[in-house]
Amino acid sequence: MLEPEPKCPPEPEPLTVEHIATAKLPTAIGEFLISGYRSTNSNEEFVVLHKGEMRPDIPTLVRIHSQCLTGDVFGSVKCDCGPQLEQAMRMIEAEGRGAIVYQQQEGRGIGIINKIRAYALQDEGADTVEANEKLGFAVDARSYRQCAEILFDLGLCKVRVMSNNPDKLKALEEAGLNVVERIPIEIDTQEPAAHYLRTKKEKLGHLLS
Ligand SMILES: [Zn+2]
Repeated sequence: MLEPEPKCPPEPEPLTVEHIATAKLPTAIGEFLISGYRSTNSNEEFVVLHKGEMRPDIPTLVRIHSQCLTGDVFGSVKCDCGPQLEQAMRMIEAEGRGAIVYQQQEGRGIGIINKIRAYALQDEGADTVEANEKLGFAVDARSYRQCAEILFDLGLCKVRVMSNNPDKLKALEEAGLNVVERIPIEIDTQEPAAHYLRTKKEKLGHLLS
């Protein structure tokens, strides 16, 4: 006899995110759906780009992408966020199914203006971790709990996470998602992103080769 599927989410906790609307979003990479969510306990908003039927029994490609205005929009090469987002969209398009939760926590949660202050310190020689510390911010102020709730609300339980960040994988597991696979996203990077990635690997534990 087959084992019954584990209940997902495991505890019947009320969600702290609310689905507001879903619309079609044709992009240069393919046809997606875009959904908007609001937190019910803060003023945080989330956007999800997804494609295909979301089913609890199918291990599905997901990415938690943290907003990076400079990389996602302006094509900054100080980091690898823009190419990572594009690669995640391409992988979902190729597979025909998947979801990207776009978390609007710019600069690992410190906001765009403080990120620019941190970049100014980096211009003087600090690395990304030292700059945040000099400004009195935690190195990483993000929380991923509500991102997991959004994936549950979409109907997912088993996920294949496109990420190099072990903290994100751990947080999704702690929230009750079944992480069946980690899919590395490695982009061919040029300096100065290469320096930034070395810092992420050495100081933030990212899984990069
Ligand atoms: Zn970035």
